[in-house]
Amino acid sequence: MSKLLSVVVSVYNEEPGLREFYSETTAALRGLPASWDYELLFVNDGSGDGSGCLLRELAKEDKRVRLVDFSRNFGHEAAMIAGIDYANGDGIVCMDADLQHPPGLLPEIVEKFEEGCQVISMVRLKNKSAGLIKNVTSSAFYKLINRLSDVKFEPNASDFFAVDSQAAEVLRKNYREKVRFLRGYVQSIGFEKTTLAYEARPRVAGESKYSLRKLFRFSVNTLLCFSDLPLKLGIYSGAVTALFGVLMMLYTIHTWAKYGAPSGYATIVVLISFMFAVLFVIVGIIGEYIAILFAELKDRPVYIVKDTMNVRNEDRAAKFVRKSDSDCGNSAAGV
Ligand code: UDP
Ligand code: MG
Repeated sequence: MSKLLSVVVSVYNEEPGLREFYSETTAALRGLPASWDYELLFVNDGSGDGSGCLLRELAKEDKRVRLVDFSRNFGHEAAMIAGIDYANGDGIVCMDADLQHPPGLLPEIVEKFEEGCQVISMVRLKNKSAGLIKNVTSSAFYKLINRLSDVKFEPNASDFFAVDSQAAEVLRKNYREKVRFLRGYVQSIGFEKTTLAYEARPRVAGESKYSLRKLFRFSVNTLLCFSDLPLKLGIYSGAVTALFGVLMMLYTIHTWAKYGAPSGYATIVVLISFMFAVLFVIVGIIGEYIAILFAELKDRPVYIVKDTMNVRNEDRAAKFVRKSDSDCGNSAAGV
């Protein structure tokens, strides 16, 4: 029986390069072994340009092209999650629509699946189109998160990864957090893992949708999601300041006994400012965790689907049944 490869592609305002992506990817997919069929599942993440129309045309021309159309922009991660939810494949590959992730690697990925690998992370060798700042901050981020978290992250792992149906099932059912880092989950679920190296090409057209600000937000959220160390900062800094306080007290008593009450205006101002700074930072960190708790508690959908093409909703409903799903009236909202 032939197997199915699902290629999940998140699309946000990618009209200029989309045709080229489609032709290059289908050419690569035709090179798969005869025992593998494929589906090309595009998730249109609320594009404001003509990407939606173009994808509709493609889905009309080619029945292997499936389309999941969001009601608005929900972000790259939400798009990948929706793609995994809707994919029917024995192997699922997530990739970007800008040809930075070379489709030429798809046959190699299938080979790895054939060898029994279940989670395949594509590791970027070079990122020519990302600037120096992005490259430096990215490596600093991975160093920090690997120190703070129990999960060991592959540096330079990208949003280009592949999972088999068993691993995908875990992502569908158990990793539905509202504030999340999909790449991190993929690396933390275990299974038979392997990596494949690739060289990131320059974008085919358009520009990156990830600003430095967005990346910073993303990094902070990831740190908070994968580590509770920041939450414990209060205890550590409390212990250090308590020790410091005792030393100060001894010093003050000593000078008071020897020379009378010391004048300490500068010391007091510096101490109070410093202590308040530490305190506010810690309160801020606690606030960040509360914001995450709040988002989880509200349990809003990760994405909302407006429309689909060449997709049978029953497929998804059978794979993905959760209580809150039925609360949404139809199966289009992904919790
Ligand atoms: N993307 C998306 N929703 C967004 C932002 C980006 O689906 O809100 C898609 C985008 O179309 C592309 C992929 O995610 O296919 C990666 O985005 P981008 O190339 O801008 O990121 P970079 O490669 O610069 O990290
Ligand atoms: Mg890109």
